Amino acid sequence: MSGRFAPSPTGPLHQGSLVTAIGSYLEAKKRKTPWLLRIDDLDGFRSMRGARDEIMRSLDAHGLHWDGPVQYQSNRIEVYMEALSNLEEQDVLFYCNCSRKLLKNHRVYPGTCRKQSNYQSDRAIRISTKNRVITCPDQLRGNRSYELETAFGDFIIVRRDQIISYHLATAVDDGSPEIDHVVRGYDLLHETPKQQYLMELLNLRPPEYAHLPVLTDEDGVKLSKRTGATPVNPKNAKENWFITLRLLGLNPPVDAANWEIKELKKWGMEAWQLELVPQQSAMIMDT
Ligand SMILES: [Zn+2]
Repeated sequence: MSGRFAPSPTGPLHQGSLVTAIGSYLEAKKRKTPWLLRIDDLDGFRSMRGARDEIMRSLDAHGLHWDGPVQYQSNRIEVYMEALSNLEEQDVLFYCNCSRKLLKNHRVYPGTCRKQSNYQSDRAIRISTKNRVITCPDQLRGNRSYELETAFGDFIIVRRDQIISYHLATAVDDGSPEIDHVVRGYDLLHETPKQQYLMELLNLRPPEYAHLPVLTDEDGVKLSKRTGATPVNPKNAKENWFITLRLLGLNPPVDAANWEIKELKKWGMEAWQLELVPQQSAMIMDT
C-alpha cells in the first residue's frame, strides 16, 4: 500500500504544488507506507523539456525522497490500451466527431454520437454515462454524490489527437492495487467521480481520497505552472517547508524556519493530521 505524488511536467514546482507534495508525503509517512512519484506526462506537447528533472531536483532539495523507481505515464501506454479494450468489450464507448463549434452551446455533452461505433482515426472516444450516480467519499470533505450524465455528460476517454485521456490513465494508475490513498488538490475534487466510474468498470478499487485546498493569487486565480506561478526556490527549502506546514494547518514554532530540513520533516510527521487541514477549497498565497 502506498501514497503518491503525481505532477505533470509542465513547469517547475510552485508553492501550490509543494503543498500537495508535502501533504501527500506526510500522509504516506503517517500511514507508514511508501510515497511514490509518478510523472503524468501523457500530453507530450504540453510538457516542458527539462521540467521533469527540475521537479525531481526540487523535491530532492526539500528532502522529499520518493520510494522506488519513478513511474512515467508515457511508458504505460500498453496498460492503458488494455483498459481501453476492456471498456470496448463492455460496450460503453463510442466515437465522437462533434466539432467544438457544435458543442459550444451545450454545458455538457448532449450524447449526439452515442450510436456511433465505426472507428475513424480523427475521432475522439467518449464513454457513455447514462443514469449513473457515483458517490465519492473524501476524508476532508465527506461524501458527495454525482449524477454523471447531468454533471459531466459522456466524457472523453481518448482525445481526437489519439492521446489517452487524463481520466483513463489516472483511473488505471490510482486504481492500482499498490495505491491505497491519494492526497491531491481541490481542483481535482470534481474529477474524482469520472475516475471512480472508470475504476468501477475496470474492476479496480478506488483509493481513499483527500483533496487539499489549492493556492490562489489575490484575484482568486489558482497558482499553476501554466499561468506562470513563481517556482519555489530549492535554496529556500527550509523556509518553503515552514510556509507549507503553516498552510497545511500546522503550527510550527517560529524558529522552525531556521531548522534543518530533517528536523522540519520530523516535526511535520509528528504533527500531521488531515483533520487540521483548512476546509476551504482555496487559500490566498501572499507573495
Ligand atoms: Zn459527438
